[in-house]
Amino acid sequence: MSEEKVLSCAYAKKCGGCRYQGVPYEKQLVKKQKQVQELLGKYGKVQKIIGMKNPYFYRNKVHAVFDRDRKGNIISGIYEPRSHRVVSIDQCLIEDEKSQEIIRTIRGMLKSFKIKTYDEDTGYGLLRHVLVRRGFTSKEIMVVLVTVSPVFPSKNNFVKALKKAHPEITTIVLNVNDRNTSMVLGDRDIVLYGKGYIKDSLCGCTFRISPRSFYQVNPKQTEILYEKAVEYADLTGKESVIDAYCGIGTISLIAAKKAGRVTGVELNKDAVKDARINARENKSSNVRFCEGDAGEYMEAMAATGQTAQVVFMDPPRAGSDQKFLSSLVKLNPDRVVYISCNPETLARDLGYLTRKGYAVRKIQPVEMFCFTEHVECAVLLSRKDK
Ligand code: SAH
Repeated sequence: MSEEKVLSCAYAKKCGGCRYQGVPYEKQLVKKQKQVQELLGKYGKVQKIIGMKNPYFYRNKVHAVFDRDRKGNIISGIYEPRSHRVVSIDQCLIEDEKSQEIIRTIRGMLKSFKIKTYDEDTGYGLLRHVLVRRGFTSKEIMVVLVTVSPVFPSKNNFVKALKKAHPEITTIVLNVNDRNTSMVLGDRDIVLYGKGYIKDSLCGCTFRISPRSFYQVNPKQTEILYEKAVEYADLTGKESVIDAYCGIGTISLIAAKKAGRVTGVELNKDAVKDARINARENKSSNVRFCEGDAGEYMEAMAATGQTAQVVFMDPPRAGSDQKFLSSLVKLNPDRVVYISCNPETLARDLGYLTRKGYAVRKIQPVEMFCFTEHVECAVLLSRKDK
């Protein structure tokens, strides 16, 4: 680390996206280790956090909101913390560089194509956001143009010019979001070029990723995290496994290679569609996917007396809910592998499970979000009496 080149961010104060900008990387890891220790240490030994060699430009998903500054110049960047004011950002130290370049190109094209940025206050204008997703392994790139209306003037010429500037783009999607919410993406996708999704691979499986499906933002560390999770599950090839909050089925398909059968449960219907296609394309015949609330699914399983030996769970930041956790306890799997991006809700949920007959056996923090205060953990629980 001593030879590491330290880059400093010019936007750190205004942007607010990275709480640890200005903190040397080794120190960031120490802070995260301490945070996990404080929250989870009472449940068991916390392993040393697995950090990154190069903590820059790791994000495979780049989102820019478009607006105008006071002088009327087109800007792109992110919302100021807790506001809808846009901070203009030209270069970010954690986002993929190629994706940022594409966003700058789009920003430069808007004027000549007479495309106006959308103004939230007046409701005038067209372009709200641009999202770029890049498969780090596949090299495929998806550009999503988020507009308030499906009518995009000189659409074909715009696409042609963008492809000419960046032949590496493999698909371009128009996403229509005409609602006044803080959600970036709307419900309608119109494919302007290519397949409408990208592929990428993790741990020897390939995955199709649609614009609205969740995909981990740091693929390099995700492989480390998933390998740890599957190692914790200690699969022998016979187990019946549940992958709750499964997204596009990443953990399901990787675990399926070592399990008897796997059921993935996911709320987002686009992600479930991706997951089913991913199962076919990876020739995983022992996996199926259910669309729905993970808590309700578990409740139905427990009520009908079905069993599972291993449950993976990877809920959003808010953690799991009472319905899920109480049915999990009823289902009584031998092992639970809890993957979490928020140690606070993780600590809360571990509190419940350890009161209900489970013991925490392993805790592994994995760095997924360098320069931000976020920290990911994989935790193994098993029955106290086993
Ligand atoms: N395990 C996946 C996804 C984790 S992100 C991966 O590593 O890629 C959490 C996922 O939970 C998202 O895909 C989100 O759509 C889904 N989700 C959120 N609430 C849910 C609920 N109540 N029931 C099932 N899935 C839910």
